Amino acid sequence: MSSAMATQQFTANVLRTGARNARKAPRAASRMTVRAAQTDLTLPIDLRGECPFRPPVVVPRPMRRPSPTRISPRIDARSMRRRLQSLATRRRRIGARPGRRQISTLRPQNDATDRYRSSDLSFPRSSSSTGKKAFVAGVADDQGFGWAISKCLAQAGCEVILGTWVPALNIFETSLRRGKFDESRKLSDGSLMEFAKVYPMDAVFDTYDDVPEEIRTNKRYAGNEKWTVAECAEQVEKDFGKIDILVHSLANGPEVAKPLLETSRNGYLAALSASSYSKVSMLQRFGPIMNKGGAAISLTYLASERIIPGYGGGMSSAKAALESDTQVLAYEAGRKWGIRVNTISAGPLGSRAAKAIGFIDDMINYSLTNAPLAEKPLSAMEIGQTAAFLCSPLASGITGSCIYVDNGLHAMGLATDAKSLERSD
Ligand code: NAD
Repeated sequence: MSSAMATQQFTANVLRTGARNARKAPRAASRMTVRAAQTDLTLPIDLRGECPFRPPVVVPRPMRRPSPTRISPRIDARSMRRRLQSLATRRRRIGARPGRRQISTLRPQNDATDRYRSSDLSFPRSSSSTGKKAFVAGVADDQGFGWAISKCLAQAGCEVILGTWVPALNIFETSLRRGKFDESRKLSDGSLMEFAKVYPMDAVFDTYDDVPEEIRTNKRYAGNEKWTVAECAEQVEKDFGKIDILVHSLANGPEVAKPLLETSRNGYLAALSASSYSKVSMLQRFGPIMNKGGAAISLTYLASERIIPGYGGGMSSAKAALESDTQVLAYEAGRKWGIRVNTISAGPLGSRAAKAIGFIDDMINYSLTNAPLAEKPLSAMEIGQTAAFLCSPLASGITGSCIYVDNGLHAMGLATDAKSLERSD
């Protein structure tokens, strides 16, 4: 190399690495190349061509000074009232109750075929997810979030192992065998989602010693064994070795229909045991059998932080605990096993559990009318895709977070269809 070229190369290295000591610059530069290459390798190769999460290209527009009317809160409020009024007038003209009309013109919420149609599966099969093992707890039919998450993980190339509540296991396996879920099992390439194994599980019991006699002899548990959280984790390790993804998609509150003021101590503690502590217990037992870099997620609901009358029995408290635990567990599990812990705050969905509460259709209606993405029904697959993203290396820097997937409803401070906003003049 000529001395001029060497100087040029040398200056380039110094500029790239910022190394102060010029003699160290070439080595620093090569270290940097290696570091860059390593970071690069964590990107799923399939996503390099067409990344679904690539932000849209934004063409900057020339700055425009806002006119005084635009920034006046008085005018803002007035124009908003006018818009709401005209909406109300239009509704009166068609003789509809606010918020009721839209839903009839929308796709049915509970049609599984529709909700899980394969075109919904835009989550890509990626080399980084292929071969990853996911344990999903809380799947007993094809209507809930657990199913949608399983499907998106399977679509991304994961091997999916299920943990199904013991009393629901028999009917779930029978329906699966008889092909009742075949339409919902379809992946984008036309193949059917397969479960590597379905384990019986009851997340309320940590070890068999905790199981009271009336449950041990209950006929809904007969014929099943090793279904406590600890035993289930042991079985999974025995059959599959280490896993990469842990999904907690379950909740139970026996007194959910009762206001908190009328909830018994037992009902409240049962809600926390099944819906919050179960997550802690699962992480305690599955954490040691998870690969470094793995991820755990759970499902929460807005009632943890905002008042949702009707979501009672201590379930709102259970979701608040789940969200708080997500942060503490993110720290502890991150330091101990190098795994990430997040939760998804999902919008209303007409799942089996939600129907038991009794007012899920009203909540769906409310969301359709008032969420920023109004008139777009929330699909379980949108939660599934977020879960698949959170569990993938694409989210390697996200832990301890609560991610809202609710068409933006959580951000609203006002119900746009509130009667008090309507004016007669
Ligand atoms: P779902 O009925 O599909 O799922 C609940 C599952 O929990 C069922 O499979 C049930 O068998 C299982 N389960 C209950 N008790 C159990 C136990 N002791 N051990 C093991 N499994 C048990 O209903 P979903 O609505 O999809 O619920 C999944 C998660 O999503 C829950 O945490 C729920 O609170 C949350 N979520 C639901 C909504 C909604 O509107 N549906 C909104 C936000 C969050």
